[in-house]
Amino acid sequence: MAESTQIQDEMPKAYEPRKVEGKWYQFWVEKGCFKVEIDPGKRPFVIIMPPPNVTGELHIGHALTATLEDIMTRWHRMKGDPTLWLPGVDHAGIAAQVVVEQLLAEEGLDRHQLGRDKFIERMKQWAVECRGTIAEQHQRLGTSCDWSRECFTLDEGPSRAVRTAFVRLYNKGLIYRGERIINWCPRCATALSDLEVDHKDIQGHLYYVRYHLAEDDGFITVATTRPETILGDTAVAVNPKDERFRAMIGKKVILPAVNRVIPVVADEVVDPTFGTGAVKITPAHDPVDFEVAQRQGLPLVNILNPDATMNENAGPYTGLDRFACREAILSDLEKDGLLVKVEPYSHSVGHCQRCQTTIEPIASKQWFINTQPLAQAAINAVLDGRITIIPERFTKVYLNWMENIRDWCISRQLWWGHRIPVWYCHDCGELTVTIEEAKSCCHCGSLNIEQDPDVLDTWFSSALWTHSTLGWPDDSESLRYFYPSTVMETGYDILFFWVARMVMMGLEDTGDIPFRTVYLHGLIRDEKGEKMSKIKGNVLNPIETLEKYGTDALRFALSTGTSPGNDLKLTTSRLEAGRNFANKLWNATRFVVRSIEPNRTDVKIQWDLLPVEDRWILSRLNGTISSVTSLMEDFQFGEAQRQIYEFLWGEFCDWYIEITKVRLRSVSEGAPSPIPVLVYVLETSLRLLHPYMPFVTEELWQNLKSHLPSDWQQVESIMITTYPQADKAAIDPQSERIMKSVIEIIHSIRNARAQYKVESTRWIEAQVYTGELTSAITPYTQAIQTLARVRPVTFSDSIREAPAAENALVLVLKESEIVIPMESMVDVEAERKRLQKEIEQSQAEVVQLEARLKDEAFLTKAPEAIVDKERSKLAMKQDKLERLKQQIKF
Ligand SMILES: [Zn+2]
Ligand SMILES: [Zn+2]
Repeated sequence: MAESTQIQDEMPKAYEPRKVEGKWYQFWVEKGCFKVEIDPGKRPFVIIMPPPNVTGELHIGHALTATLEDIMTRWHRMKGDPTLWLPGVDHAGIAAQVVVEQLLAEEGLDRHQLGRDKFIERMKQWAVECRGTIAEQHQRLGTSCDWSRECFTLDEGPSRAVRTAFVRLYNKGLIYRGERIINWCPRCATALSDLEVDHKDIQGHLYYVRYHLAEDDGFITVATTRPETILGDTAVAVNPKDERFRAMIGKKVILPAVNRVIPVVADEVVDPTFGTGAVKITPAHDPVDFEVAQRQGLPLVNILNPDATMNENAGPYTGLDRFACREAILSDLEKDGLLVKVEPYSHSVGHCQRCQTTIEPIASKQWFINTQPLAQAAINAVLDGRITIIPERFTKVYLNWMENIRDWCISRQLWWGHRIPVWYCHDCGELTVTIEEAKSCCHCGSLNIEQDPDVLDTWFSSALWTHSTLGWPDDSESLRYFYPSTVMETGYDILFFWVARMVMMGLEDTGDIPFRTVYLHGLIRDEKGEKMSKIKGNVLNPIETLEKYGTDALRFALSTGTSPGNDLKLTTSRLEAGRNFANKLWNATRFVVRSIEPNRTDVKIQWDLLPVEDRWILSRLNGTISSVTSLMEDFQFGEAQRQIYEFLWGEFCDWYIEITKVRLRSVSEGAPSPIPVLVYVLETSLRLLHPYMPFVTEELWQNLKSHLPSDWQQVESIMITTYPQADKAAIDPQSERIMKSVIEIIHSIRNARAQYKVESTRWIEAQVYTGELTSAITPYTQAIQTLARVRPVTFSDSIREAPAAENALVLVLKESEIVIPMESMVDVEAERKRLQKEIEQSQAEVVQLEARLKDEAFLTKAPEAIVDKERSKLAMKQDKLERLKQQIKF
């Protein structure tokens, strides 16, 4: 019977992530491990997940977000904090609408053919599919969020929050409708906020165009990058202090191409050094000109249709596309002799962030938020330390943006999103602005009302996300307990889009900050440090990656290199390192489990009997716990994970287990078994690592569990155990010192063997001078013999009498010296000859390189990179020569 259990308990030879990941995730969900319970006596730890867009699948940036937030969540849960990680999904307004419109286009349809209702139905179907994919992919990544609280921005709760926030701001006069210059995307046919526009430097032209005076001889020349906008000019402006144009002010000029008569006005805003010093004023298509027109009382002439073809104001050009119109006007101006000159000109042109179409600034009636009063509170919250931004350097970026904030255009001419809660009365012309669906005009009672067709900027609902997901505007128990959240973890690229606006809206709606700490992570780049993009084809799909390497390996790769605010290179070698680490732990656990005698239940550590190596590994374990804890408190997750890795691989697996193997082979009567310490250190380390690599640690912990003390048997999962706490009493500097020396001795002898290419089966001799540590080190004779393959080895507490025996290699270590007779390693004469030959060859190479680097002709002609390469080559060769000269000194 014992035999059959043993076979059943046997761990497979290798770790196969795909076999265990799904099983454990399901197990955690079934056991309700992700659910949070409100405990009024404790302060909760809360993260509201940045909701991925319903635009498709998760990308590698989402995987980083999920990994970092899961690390924090699992850690706090194990620390015993009531921990909420609230997942959600964003309807993503324009971004999602563009995706579905592209799908429709493949069917030969557009949204207008479907009509608004049918299109929204299509969008909803799409959103449901996406939400399923996103949730499934998050589960593959191991995210331990509370799925019972999952939110969607278009759900009833968040939607009511959106309408409530809108109505409140409107009633306070902070939301208004007005005609302003907005960014218009002709393809998306909607207004965009300033943040949704990508500015690119374009090599264009500056066209100098002559406007004749209407009543006198003479002309005035203006310069423009967009000659088609001439059709919308309503004035020419000059600086009032500019002597050259003083006589022109108040006169009239004839607009070329359409022959409209427009005035010459004086305005301070005109820069006399730009172009000719006289500028055309196109108030309907330029934000600066719009302001000039407001000051000067000039009319607005809009020349564009929503699809960027020319409208009826464009006279003979009506119906032409904007770029075709540009060509037509230029050719007409040239014919009429009005095109004075054309200069190459590099300037910044706005592009739609979602479809990359060139933006047109257009005067348009839209809804805006007057953000300045909101920004002041958001500035104060950071200045007075209620909100901390990590890394600190982004505080300045945040404050600078807030201080220069401009009104936020929130209306979008889209169908997918939160409909603006405003109804226009066809009878009295007044507006009804209400949270609930309006049935009649609140001013005259007329039923003849119509809702604004537009929807809100998708970032409007995002700005409410920290409180709308917790039940606001209701005074819910969740809102009272979980708001404000603890950490807002997101990419630095959406600091303004999202973080800044959440601070403004959170403060405005609830009177309290939305989160205490903002943690900004960087972007993920490829091996060469380049941004990942579909066009470059260097995008790493997180699901394909985790299928190849395992989820824990992907998480390891994402979190090792990460530090707040810095971009991270995701390399194959890092993914492989993650996979190797999981395998290393697997093998270590397999060794430990197999070492435990089948019937043994007593794994209690007998602290007073522990040999030095046990005290050493326990000391190092507790030192690591202490350091890791303070790093995590400091949000240095990358470094914390690196230290756990170094401890587990570099100390526990490579040394403690190896020494243990020697010890287990020669257990003497009455000597304490290493097994209790092996089990204890391994089990504690698995818990320490769990937030980073949840699947492999759970699998290994479960394999170890039946061998743990009985109080562990009741605990169902590693994720609901406690996070290790450092035991200061276990810190033992003397044991660390001794073991450091033992390791150094083994390590140096191994290096010497490698250096002289000693066959692995050959035993070599050594004399070790260990001074005052001798009595502490001699118990490790057998370990040193076995692990360094050195026999006989003798220890001496005296100082080495110089000089050492002839033909011996002397290794000087921190607290000891090792003398190895050369003949025990190699055939001395042959080795001398070999080294001599190598020295001569190296010498020749050095001389050659030195000569080259003194050659003036080479130095002046060769590119700097080549010279640098030669220099570093020389340094390398010199170094090698030096080492060879040392090696031959035996
Ligand atoms: Zn667009
Ligand atoms: Zn009315």
